[in-house]
Amino acid sequence: MRVELPSNGTDWDTLSAQMNEMATGDVKWRDGKTAVYVFNAGEDVSKVQKEAYTRFMSENGLGPMAFPSLKRMEEEIIQMGLSLLQAPEDGAGNVTSGGTDSITMAIKTARDYARATGRLAAGNQPNIVLPWSGHPAFDKAALMMDIELRRIPVTDDFLADPQAMSDAVDANTIMMVGSAPCFPYGLIDPIAELGAVAEAHNVWLHVDACVGGFFAPFVRMNGADLPAFDFAVPQVHSMSADLHKYGYCAKGASTVMFRSEALKEHMIFDTNDWPGGRMITPTLAGTRPGGAIAAAWAVMNYLGVDGYRAKQGLVVETREKIEDGVRDLGFDVIGKPQLGLVGYTHPDRDMFAIWGKLFERGWFTSVVTKPRGIHLMLSPKHAEVADTYLADLAWATEQVRGANEPKAEKEIRYSG
Ligand SMILES: *Cc1c(COP(=O)(O)O)cnc(C)c1O
Repeated sequence: MRVELPSNGTDWDTLSAQMNEMATGDVKWRDGKTAVYVFNAGEDVSKVQKEAYTRFMSENGLGPMAFPSLKRMEEEIIQMGLSLLQAPEDGAGNVTSGGTDSITMAIKTARDYARATGRLAAGNQPNIVLPWSGHPAFDKAALMMDIELRRIPVTDDFLADPQAMSDAVDANTIMMVGSAPCFPYGLIDPIAELGAVAEAHNVWLHVDACVGGFFAPFVRMNGADLPAFDFAVPQVHSMSADLHKYGYCAKGASTVMFRSEALKEHMIFDTNDWPGGRMITPTLAGTRPGGAIAAAWAVMNYLGVDGYRAKQGLVVETREKIEDGVRDLGFDVIGKPQLGLVGYTHPDRDMFAIWGKLFERGWFTSVVTKPRGIHLMLSPKHAEVADTYLADLAWATEQVRGANEPKAEKEIRYSG
């Protein structure tokens, strides 16, 4: 049914009540019962996000001359990100609208770099080699830019397979990808090994740290023995790291970063061929929400290294507690997670039926399809509800006796 714009306006109090009514059917993320989509770092962080966002809500990052405030905040965000991810002095980057934007821009940059340096011959279709666990944002960007995407099976440990990826690289490969971590398994790919392959083939290496870029550095500072995953690996050309995930910033904020200013040059769009004057934009967006940039700057400075270390430490403790809990209930954890994501499976229970039972109790998470499992993306808030989750999982497991094997047409969709 077509909805028409109302002829007359409605007062805000009425609209506000209507919106609250609409939200009653939404997941109960404020209670910590959602472990996907939302990062809940507490009321104080939320207040900083909101106030900073609304203060710069009307300002536009498209105009750095008009808004030197936003320009400065963006530069400082990028400098902080580059430092955390151990980029050289000459590293450079931009704030984007999200991980998909960051990945799209990294690919565009790699392609134009390959053309400029003669690695990609004119007229040839470029390709990207990435592990099967890589994010669909790569597929979306590849589709838009008519790039072939080569998804390579992961190893038995659910990690990128450097040898198999090496075999898939050819003269038209403009980028290899590793994730830190990948979303489905939450595991950090062997970036140093991928770096060696990239070096041997002289190929651009992108590390997709959308979900881990503002998490892993603090876990390492807390003493965890993480593999190399960032610009410390010399062959890493670019990284994507989302602020609106474990950076605990407001949505609409990510970063794309490059080893050098010279590499970033290939990202910038610059035209003068229209009646409106010269237009220079670094990322996919034209208008860029000042609120998202301001909120990111404010939250990063509000938390600081101490704040992030404490939050991420709590998330890691919670993940370890849940890992122990699910193992006690007979489940298997997928691989060896070290960050805030964990997937688990069961040898002989239907995981998607268990997911359904947990949903009945108000839990909303994502899933893994191979192996069939339940996926949790944990936030600091989950420390308070881990025991309840495990108790509900024990109950759900009792309810479900079916075998954990694919059933036709049974699919959990979590978007679209
Ligand atoms: C979330 C995510 C993305 C995409 O980021 P959006 O902000 O949702 O566009 C890409 N890669 C990984 C590993 C992610 O977790």
